[in-house]
Amino acid sequence: MPCVNGQQYINRIDHLKSNVWINGQKVTGNISEHSSFKGIMKSQASLYDLQCRKDMIDIMTYLSPKTNERVGMSFLQPKTRKDLEKRRKMIETWARQSAGMMGRSPDYMNTVLMSFSAASDLFSDPKGKGNFVKYYEYCRENDLSLTHTFINPQVNRSSNYMDNSNEDISARVIDKNENGIIVQGARLLATQGGITDEILVFPPGGNQVDTSLCYAFAIPSNLPGLKFLCRESFDYRHDEYDHPLSARFDEMDAVVVFDHCEVPWERVFIYGDPFSASLLYSESGFFPYQIHQVTTKNVVKTEFVLGVLQSIVDTINIGEYQHIQEKIVEVVMALETLKGFLISSETSASRDQWGFMVPDRNPLYAAMAYFPKIYPRFIEIMQLIGASGLVSIPTERDFHSINQNELNNYLQSATLKGYERVKLFRLASDLCISAFGGRQTLYERFFFGDSARLSGTVYREYDRSAYVDWVKKFLHQS
Ligand SMILES: Cc1cc2nc3c(=O)[nH]c(=O)nc-3n(C[C@H](O)[C@H](O)[C@H](O)COP(=O)(O)OP(=O)(O)OC[C@H]3O[C@@H](n4cnc5c(N)ncnc54)[C@H](O)[C@@H]3O)c2cc1C
Repeated sequence: MPCVNGQQYINRIDHLKSNVWINGQKVTGNISEHSSFKGIMKSQASLYDLQCRKDMIDIMTYLSPKTNERVGMSFLQPKTRKDLEKRRKMIETWARQSAGMMGRSPDYMNTVLMSFSAASDLFSDPKGKGNFVKYYEYCRENDLSLTHTFINPQVNRSSNYMDNSNEDISARVIDKNENGIIVQGARLLATQGGITDEILVFPPGGNQVDTSLCYAFAIPSNLPGLKFLCRESFDYRHDEYDHPLSARFDEMDAVVVFDHCEVPWERVFIYGDPFSASLLYSESGFFPYQIHQVTTKNVVKTEFVLGVLQSIVDTINIGEYQHIQEKIVEVVMALETLKGFLISSETSASRDQWGFMVPDRNPLYAAMAYFPKIYPRFIEIMQLIGASGLVSIPTERDFHSINQNELNNYLQSATLKGYERVKLFRLASDLCISAFGGRQTLYERFFFGDSARLSGTVYREYDRSAYVDWVKKFLHQS
């Protein structure tokens, strides 16, 4: 089945009946109808619908090299700069549907698959390599949705800590048989866990000495023994006036538990080979392709934040104040910087040893280090500009009560009636003071790893030798 539409996605996930728990209860009926998941699943479905629209099909899909059928553009392994541009346009189109609030729209994981598959020679075990390439093609040809989990539970992060507990904590391979490996324990987190077709499980990076912790595989979300333990939903009420973002884009995060999960050999990509695992991160196009996807989404998200900020400024007429202008310009500078990183990464892209066109890492590394710092500042700016307007926000029901006239009068602004003004401020509030908004900020700080340690990657990888040589020469001249 080539690229799917929204209903096909929903039917598939409902049919899985994965083992998903929330608020102490197992989800039993169709998960797409459950109050904690229906908002996000509807939004995800709308992405799939968009890619099938006749007027969008050329932007959102391409012809599969295997079947000549239409498949999602985010699976495209780019060979030219034009291909990178096509990928960017597709990613941007999906990001606009959620105002950049869905960090894990399916193009995120499709990019992971395509980047590891493009560098499949790095899998030292030929079977693992073959399995991964087949898996990438399988996901592409069936347009599967994926979540993933990389990180072990947050038990003890001391550098001296060896995870050799007798209890089952970090998921490890405890046995193997003719069918596959047996995995027991947990992984910290999977965003969208339980509402995707499959889950990709990869090693947590770094140098893994314990080989039982060193594996990579993918399994259907309903594999026996697999369980998703979700946090509380931030989609409190499914009212798009009251909670315009959380009612639609709360992606949900889940602890992933493996209880004697038997992973078939054909789905095992790495087993007991730490070297292969670390090479995949460092030597493949994983980082540049992934940050190219993420930065495209972040440009859209920044445009949306800027739009909300400027709307507040116009609505309560505070644009004359210099510090307000300065704050808006801070966001403008960030937006233009992010766009610059993206375009520069494409302009100076180059082919890797396998012939794939990889965006330039340097501007993307800078983008990776920059956004986790600047996004919390956007949120701070929104609080500083919105002030008490962010909490003077009765619900839509209040506007339909006997207090309607008073609310429309007292909560009016320079340009809007109370009802419209509160609608705007509820949006801002959802972005900058709600549980959903808090999670968005945490997401931007951490979703790709700890930003302090990611800066360490940039420090190691960014070649500064030419500048040091220049300074040496400069000193000799004087
Ligand atoms: C909203 C959200 C969604 C996420 N979604 C996913 C997902 O879908 N899949 C997935 O696999 N992961 C996901 N993550 C997890 C993400 O990858 C991790 O949060 C990130 O890698 C940091 O790891 P940690 O949370 O365990 O923090 P920790 O590593 O426990 O860090 C806690 C604190 O200790 C410090 N610290 C810890 N170790 C060191 C060290 N060695 N050196 C210096 N400082 C250190 C950190 O700087 C930090 O301040 C998500 C995270 C968030 C917040």
